[in-house]
Amino acid sequence: MVFDRDSAHIIAGAARGAGLTLPDAYALVRCNDDVLPMLLAAAGAVRDRGKGRTVTYSRKVFLPITNLCRDRCSYCTFRKDPGDPGAWTMTRAEITEWVARARRQGCKEALMCLGDRPEAVFPSHRETLRALGHDSTIAYVREACEIALAAGLLPHTNAGLLTSEEMRLLRPVNASLGLMLENVSPRLRARGMPHQHAPDKEPARRLAMIAEAGRLHIPFTTGILLGIGETQEERVDSLFAIADLHAAYGHIQEVILQNFRSKPATPMATAPEPGAADLARTIAVARLLLGPDVNIQAPPNLSPSNHRLLLRAGINDWGGISPVSSDYVNPEAAWPVISTLARTCAEEGFVLRERLTIYPEYVHPQYLDPDLATLVDRLAEVIRTEDVHADGAH
Ligand code: SF4
Repeated sequence: MVFDRDSAHIIAGAARGAGLTLPDAYALVRCNDDVLPMLLAAAGAVRDRGKGRTVTYSRKVFLPITNLCRDRCSYCTFRKDPGDPGAWTMTRAEITEWVARARRQGCKEALMCLGDRPEAVFPSHRETLRALGHDSTIAYVREACEIALAAGLLPHTNAGLLTSEEMRLLRPVNASLGLMLENVSPRLRARGMPHQHAPDKEPARRLAMIAEAGRLHIPFTTGILLGIGETQEERVDSLFAIADLHAAYGHIQEVILQNFRSKPATPMATAPEPGAADLARTIAVARLLLGPDVNIQAPPNLSPSNHRLLLRAGINDWGGISPVSSDYVNPEAAWPVISTLARTCAEEGFVLRERLTIYPEYVHPQYLDPDLATLVDRLAEVIRTEDVHADGAH
């Protein structure tokens, strides 16, 4: 193999803080394995400059408010049609019971994660909502958030594509909102591609929602999905699109790099999953491109054997980890044991710390509804006290 001198030159510049141009990023996302260690070292150094040697996670409960969804992504086992085995809209009693259990287990985040706008296509779901006293799924989600807040948990909702009005409805009862961009390429909506039957995965609509969240000053979680048929260059384009949104509005509190996991009985059951080096290379490019201050996350349950590699590639966050509920989107992927993850982090020279769903840099009246500020302060104080005890125990 010929040493990849061009990539090495770009990496050396990026490590000095020169950032990445689009052609640079295109080159690095395809760099040879011989320069991969250099790429990871540069990305790790940039992460250390902004985030130090602290890696975070959020202790959460995952509430699948409804798994009915009007879209049909080719990789998804979460979604159901009404009447399918496992089709489920959580009742008020279930939500109340789950959040109470989560609070007892020390959770601080209630993740409301659900299918996209099922009432648009399923009359029976409209009936369910009517019986619950609501005319939309989002109105019911707002009530679920109020239940979580009353139990002392901070809601974070990812309900797919939302209108401005819907985000305004959710903002006062959510510390942050989320929507994966997934990928900026409209090609993935074409015939035979994973989003052919998913109108809500139209990239322009997702970019528009994320921009509107910025105008509404909502701390926002987004990210890309790796391995669903996109090219390496389309991954870079997607990261630049996120960087542009953040430059315009400053509200992207974290960027997730989520690797596709194939699931039986889906149209993508036999599609190849991204390898560890591929994931690490993309994370490192993301870090160099997004810079030292952006929070970059990789889900630990989707790469159980590669936690050390992900740390070296430049992440500073593991996302939500739940002691009480599965990852309903990837039910085969168990959460790591937090103490084991902390040990791995320590062996790599990092301290694992719990955080809230809203990152500290967004705990500010511009981004946080005043009615949530007291709970945010109280939960942050609980984490600080737990950290002091944990440090004292060492
Ligand atoms: S990935 Fe999300 S939008 Fe796509 S089918 Fe599954 S639940 Fe629906």
